Amino acid sequence: MKVAVYPGSFDPITLGHLDVIKRASIMFDKVIVTVMNNSSKSSLFSVDERVKMIEDITRDLGNIEVDSFDGLMIDYCRQKNIHIVLRGLRAITDFEYELQIAQTNRELSHNNVDTVFLTTNLRYSYLSSSTVKEIASYHGDVSSMVTDNVRIALEERI
Ligand code: ADP
Repeated sequence: MKVAVYPGSFDPITLGHLDVIKRASIMFDKVIVTVMNNSSKSSLFSVDERVKMIEDITRDLGNIEVDSFDGLMIDYCRQKNIHIVLRGLRAITDFEYELQIAQTNRELSHNNVDTVFLTTNLRYSYLSSSTVKEIASYHGDVSSMVTDNVRIALEERI
């Protein structure tokens, strides 16, 4: 069974993330979307809230599992016996950072963990969770950037 893990902050999940998840769900038997509890980033939504939002919008896809983890990605992969990490690439600016993480994970896992990149759907290439939060904080319209449950959660939080 081909399983990939898609890790990220997802604070909150956007249509760009969802597009990557949908495309990956066709390529892999199972995709585990894992909310990483990144202590160096302050977040708007708790890990549990983020997990719940992702569960709500991926339920229909059938082969998506949602999880959370606090620690190193390679430790998570070892625990779950996963060898593929999935990441999204929006622009060249993502590339340097992502390349560094991918090489590090490969090195630390003794070549047991490889990273697969999906390039963004051009419609969402400008989209990030930070942009969504910034717009929502000024009561701007984010309906073309996130699903309804996330838009409502943002309105309630801000
Ligand atoms: P992180 O904090 O780990 O970068 P994010 O939640 O911001 O996590 O993103 C998770 C992954 O999704 C990253 O690989 C990121 O490049 C990718 N991603 C974010 N936004 C988009 C988008 N609009 N289109 C495609 N991939 C995206």
